Amino acid sequence: MTTTPLALPAAADALAWVQTRATEGMGTARRLVDALRASPPTDTMDALRQWDEISLQLSNVAAMGSLLSNVHPAEDVRGAAEKAEQDVMRLITELSLDRALYDVFAPLDPAGLDDQASRLLAKVLDDFRRSGVDQDDETRARITAIKERVTELDQEFGKVIRDDVRTIRVTPERLDGLPSDWLEAHPAGEDGLVTVTTDYPDVVPVRMFAHDADVRREITMAFLNRGWPTNDALLKEMFALRHELATLVGYDDWASYDADVKMIGTGPAIPAFIDKITEAAEEPMQRDLAILMARFRQDHPDAEHITGADASYYEELVRKEQLQVDAQQVRTYFDFAKVRQGLLDVTGRLFGLRYEPVTDAAVWHDDVTAYDVFDASADAGTAEPFGRIYLDLHPREGKYKHAAQFTLTDGVLGKQLPEGVLVCNFARGLMEHDHVVTLFHEFGHLVHHVLGGRAQWTRFAGVATEWDFVEAPSQMLEEWAWDPAVLASFATDAAGQPIPADLVARMRTGDDFGKAYLARQQMFYASMSYWFHSERPDDLTARTRELQTRYSPFPYIEDTHMFASFGHLGGYSSAYYTYMWSLVIAKDLFSAFDPADLFDTSTAGRYRDRVLAPGGSKDAADLVEDFLGRPYTFDAYAAWLAG
Ligand SMILES: [Zn+2]
Repeated sequence: MTTTPLALPAAADALAWVQTRATEGMGTARRLVDALRASPPTDTMDALRQWDEISLQLSNVAAMGSLLSNVHPAEDVRGAAEKAEQDVMRLITELSLDRALYDVFAPLDPAGLDDQASRLLAKVLDDFRRSGVDQDDETRARITAIKERVTELDQEFGKVIRDDVRTIRVTPERLDGLPSDWLEAHPAGEDGLVTVTTDYPDVVPVRMFAHDADVRREITMAFLNRGWPTNDALLKEMFALRHELATLVGYDDWASYDADVKMIGTGPAIPAFIDKITEAAEEPMQRDLAILMARFRQDHPDAEHITGADASYYEELVRKEQLQVDAQQVRTYFDFAKVRQGLLDVTGRLFGLRYEPVTDAAVWHDDVTAYDVFDASADAGTAEPFGRIYLDLHPREGKYKHAAQFTLTDGVLGKQLPEGVLVCNFARGLMEHDHVVTLFHEFGHLVHHVLGGRAQWTRFAGVATEWDFVEAPSQMLEEWAWDPAVLASFATDAAGQPIPADLVARMRTGDDFGKAYLARQQMFYASMSYWFHSERPDDLTARTRELQTRYSPFPYIEDTHMFASFGHLGGYSSAYYTYMWSLVIAKDLFSAFDPADLFDTSTAGRYRDRVLAPGGSKDAADLVEDFLGRPYTFDAYAAWLAG
């Protein structure tokens, strides 16, 4: 059976296409469910195959809805996609609480199933149990209502953040210090003032480079107040409902419910992990903060602390003056077009892939580029692709504001190809090196999605591992954006000179500066994510201030409400610790590579085959052990942090 990439619609047909794909997908799923209930299969494999087809139909609608509601330029298409996502989530909830459907699966005999089918059956039954399908009618109705409301709240929370673009208006001379290309792209208006927005391409360079401390403070305040006050009430309702849901199905709290299907295993293991990182980071954090404060005190002799409004700027000064890294010089090597091609060349070489531009693919915006992904050794022209990727990398109005990989389709062998999308917000000209690292990171998710997209079962397709593992492959791929030989292969300045190895070495030292206080900042975020869900405080601002004081290297800034735009409280809920958990594993995975030769294809190939390609078909701890030849440990991470 051959499979071909999904054909996306032309702009004029997009609205009808979204509505039809949603209606048909959900209609097919309903018909299959009706058939399962009407005549329950006695053969376990038969039942699993039908269930998998239902899962595939539902995942196709959910993925389309999530992607297009975040990226489509037309507001009505975004609205229809958002509705499709809401409708399919409602259907998924309904099915997860369908007692008659559960009764089809509960009595199935697992005897004689192969490993994968047996794993699938166990997961299906566990999903049903966690959904509360075995509860009484009244409880099931309440669970349904809670899930619908949480979905609405989560979408509204994200929308409020997306739409709340704030601006400050300043005279051009107050932007002294910013790169000339940024200044050229931000001319003064008729009233002589320049508009600076809270979108990343503005807020990041202004906080990093503007000499005027008041400008840095004003844009930081605006940035930290996005979503406030609207999201305060939305979040409190979301935390309360999640708690109620978890207790209804027999867990102590939301974090315990959520952690039960993750590597970390239990809710209380989360603050224990946060404290373990906090302690490991204490000494190196103090070391770097002392350097930062010393530089800050040259300008502010009486200062007792430095806040987040000044930290980027002074970090940059320390890097420039003490570590001889000038970010503005660094940027000259990272022209967007060369970086994008370099990313494809590097990952193609590493994972044995070839990316062929699909010039006739319908895309939702002119900025988007599409590529079919092939095995590098396959015959050009005749081979079937592994999948298709789309790169949507520049900001525009109404688009998702962060960087993330979205799924368009999950890959199931013989049924459909995996297709994924990188959605980022990079400048069109020269890039910050940080953004290059972000691009490699997100591509790590994308390549996982594609290479894991030859699954036997939809449930295990692509990035279907435990959620606290999914950031490990992406964080590991960041290492390639720091390697002198890798960077020299594509990072060249306007005269064509590759970035010098000694500059990259100094960049790395510069980046390592502050890594421990960054870890502490992350633990501040992770603690909000955990305690907001397990304690459900009345005053989120007051609790933020306390947690920031305990974990963050930088004090709370009065009259700010950072949590109101902390989008991960929606999707990651109590599990923001996962970024750091995954980093611990990423450092361990990376320890298997030869730092002198990051293009060693034998190690990369083993990693591709044992960690990425299996998708969710094994527990993540087993994937890691298959690759490393031993269980994962904390050691590589601890050594990196202390070094
Ligand atoms: Zn990521």
